[in-house]
Amino acid sequence: MTQKGRGTKPKHVPQRTCIACRKVAGKRSLLRLVRSEQGVEVDASGKLPGRGAYLHPYQSCWQAVLRGGRLEQALRTRMNEENRQALLAYMATLPESEEADLALESNEANTAPAAAVKK
Ligand SMILES: [Zn+2]
Repeated sequence: MTQKGRGTKPKHVPQRTCIACRKVAGKRSLLRLVRSEQGVEVDASGKLPGRGAYLHPYQSCWQAVLRGGRLEQALRTRMNEENRQALLAYMATLPESEEADLALESNEANTAPAAAVKK
């Protein structure tokens, strides 16, 4: 591996780290959260200005950072109760975990019976 790529390098895909599980993932598979005047806001467009943090769109990761206050640490801000409730409400719309999400997707993709889904 050298730094002198001669056009043979694969296309650069922006990588971000989930602040909950610390796994690195493509930017598009993570949700961006930004610091706002109210506290913390979900940046659905990925284009809001300001300090941001990335999280998997799964409840498991959200719970980890909302409970431990790690989200506030990462964004160096404080959430008020209203803000926290708004994020919890958003979290409730997300799949529980990556496994649950994948199972859901494969079910939708090919209306196969659940028994055909590989574990
Ligand atoms: Zn994560």
